[in-house]
Amino acid sequence: MERIELKTRESTELVDITEKVKELVKYTGVESGICVIFTRHTTSGIIINENEAGMKQDIVTLLNELVPKGKGYLHDRIDNNAHSHLRAVLLGTSVSIPVDRGELVLGTWQSIFFVECDGPRRREVCVNVV
Ligand code: ZN
Repeated sequence: MERIELKTRESTELVDITEKVKELVKYTGVESGICVIFTRHTTSGIIINENEAGMKQDIVTLLNELVPKGKGYLHDRIDNNAHSHLRAVLLGTSVSIPVDRGELVLGTWQSIFFVECDGPRRREVCVNVV
């Protein structure tokens, strides 16, 4: 298993990790299989979408609208970041991408994002190619 270390800068932020994942897939030498990208944190997610500035902002706006901060969540009584956990629930913790001929089978407009929901923080993403 390989790891990607990240340092996020915003409270909610999309970080494109596509190139790093591609490098790791090449490094493993796997020709045909599945690449699993997994975040080990309860207040972040992994998604695939288009890396376009407006789209990235739209996703942040959507998360802010769907799960507003400080809405009387029970977890806020001990940690004050319930909204971060709840946003992560909507996003999911991993994505699986087919690998063929040694490369990720991503569509033209598909990029892999680590989504920070409780930044800024140091984060770690696991990448496993099997
Ligand atoms: Zn918490």
